[in-house]
Amino acid sequence: MKYKELITQIFEKVHSTENQGEKASYIPELAKVASENFGVHISTTDSEQFGFGDFQDKFSIQSISKVFSLALAYKLLGEDLWNRLGVEPSGTGFNSLVQLENDKGIPRNPFINAGALVIADILLSHLENPKEELLAFIRSLSANKDINYSTKIAYSEKSVGYRNIALCNFIKSFGNIENEPDKVLDFYFDICSLESTCEQLSAQFSFLANNGKTAHDNTQVLTISQSKRINALMQTCGFYDESGEFAFKVGLAGKSGVGGGIVAIHPNQYVITVWSPKLNAKGNSYRGMQFLEAFTTATQQSIF
Ligand code: GLN
Repeated sequence: MKYKELITQIFEKVHSTENQGEKASYIPELAKVASENFGVHISTTDSEQFGFGDFQDKFSIQSISKVFSLALAYKLLGEDLWNRLGVEPSGTGFNSLVQLENDKGIPRNPFINAGALVIADILLSHLENPKEELLAFIRSLSANKDINYSTKIAYSEKSVGYRNIALCNFIKSFGNIENEPDKVLDFYFDICSLESTCEQLSAQFSFLANNGKTAHDNTQVLTISQSKRINALMQTCGFYDESGEFAFKVGLAGKSGVGGGIVAIHPNQYVITVWSPKLNAKGNSYRGMQFLEAFTTATQQSIF
């Protein structure tokens, strides 16, 4: 395995430096997670696997789930999806309200909270049992079916979810939310509460490294073009107002979550997932960013 030694070395190096940043304490349950958790897992398109540290521990994937809900909505609606939201980087924080008024309730992209709320609304309108069907979709992406919602985390976020409540109602006022805001928000909090491990996420995201096809059973989940477009959105919008910096320093398509996870994709090569709960000021994992920057620097390979 060509990455084994490199990953171990970089992991040890990042681990030996100060663990900076803060956990996402605005969600009370996330403040309870141990700051020193640190795991990484890589899964290559030629079936090599390697994990180090806490790569088999479950964590709250938070906004990483926005890629799964987008993939399912894209599969259901095709290009009509883009009548409801845009594909431009927002350059603002993940929970910002500021552009929505000028943009008349059309979120800039599916990875900011506003966009993910519209995606949740779309899934509610098009699926009979949205919560079960989204979970079944995610489970179908890899051989390991062990991914679940966390009622505790969903409830914890809901109890203080004033910003998302405001966002959802604001978008509804422009007519871009069809369902009752309470239903959309409950589903959104459930989606954010999904728990998985680095190892499982690398497998669940394999279809995006593999032109839309799952690695375990070769199912064409999305068309090649849809898969390319989701990777492009991860590249340009996956880290909110730090997406430019992630492209600049790491050079992969990726998506972060406030649980401290980052999934990064080198199309046709690998998926790499890192988890460390402390976040930088933009809400992205401090050690995750450090690790991935060192990784693509050492391999001298990125999508650029
Ligand atoms: N559930 C989180 C929120 O809405 C997701 C944010 C994130 O992971 N960036 O605030």
